[in-house]
Amino acid sequence: MPIDATQPYDDTNVFARILRGELPCRRVYEDEHALAFHDINPQAPTHILVIPKGRYVSWDDFSAQASDAAIAGFIRAVGLVAREQGLVAPGYRLLANVGQHGHQEVPHLHVHLFGGRPLGPMLA
Ligand code: C5P
Repeated sequence: MPIDATQPYDDTNVFARILRGELPCRRVYEDEHALAFHDINPQAPTHILVIPKGRYVSWDDFSAQASDAAIAGFIRAVGLVAREQGLVAPGYRLLANVGQHGHQEVPHLHVHLFGGRPLGPMLA
């Protein structure tokens, strides 16, 4: 079920629990700003989720409320993961779903990083 991106942050969401170490993940990268791990239901040969460490429901509150350092650190982490995964030369896709129409299901901002095969034209 897609979430309402205007809801307050829910500390019981699955990615909050992963950040607190209460649930496992297949981690690929972590720094002070971001955690990256393999999606449990991959839609491409490489399907990694990159999440900020702060309590942000979606791209909306993150872009509005996070510090410049947190935003820069998160965006740098996404790029670093893509480079470390060897995705730059073949290319890759980034996606962040927001709220109901974006079909966001987990209420903690996450950027999907897809790669490893030609991904075709972007779906609307
Ligand atoms: O963007 P959206 O919220 O729809 O995507 C949530 C993603 O989180 C899904 O791709 C799902 O497979 C992934 N997920 C995960 N580990 C969980 C719960 C969800 O990788 N424990």
